[in-house]
Amino acid sequence: MFSSERELLVFRLSQLLDAPPSEDLVQKLIADPALLTRIEAARSNPIWIYDLIGGEMSAPKPAASAKLVGTAFSAQVEYAKSRFAKPVAEEFSRRWHACQSCHHLVNNPGGPLYFLGKAIFRAGDDRVCNLCGCPAYTKAGRLVERCPSPSESDPSINRWGQPLSENSTAR
Ligand code: SF4
Repeated sequence: MFSSERELLVFRLSQLLDAPPSEDLVQKLIADPALLTRIEAARSNPIWIYDLIGGEMSAPKPAASAKLVGTAFSAQVEYAKSRFAKPVAEEFSRRWHACQSCHHLVNNPGGPLYFLGKAIFRAGDDRVCNLCGCPAYTKAGRLVERCPSPSESDPSINRWGQPLSENSTAR
């Protein structure tokens, strides 16, 4: 079924991370095959995965990293609780279109946590929402997520068209 060990590795990583792995991550695992077993063991906890993949990089600023780790962790928990539900294509397209026209969508600031996000999710676009710190493309592709900003034309809804009254758990 697989023509090479590399192909098998990419397949196993895609299953583990629920997304195709980046080339950087594949190369890391080719150099250190035992890392795959440790990622498998840490699959349920993004902070552990961060330790495994980002540990060799310079430490992030404490306040920012603690907040982002907390956000990433709670986002992952909510996503898992939703059984990894994704919006239908039209809904995703509408959300992502709104993000692309939004002044809160900013360039990825870099650093270990965003390196981790890119390694795991390999999104089509790595810009982030500066209100919640999430990679916006990935955020838009999770049904459970909510946009944290009010619409400019209707203050009762957010920029994705969701009622703001239901935004209490928005990240
Ligand atoms: S999630 Fe909302 S606030 Fe953030 S970039 Fe997208 S549209 Fe803007």
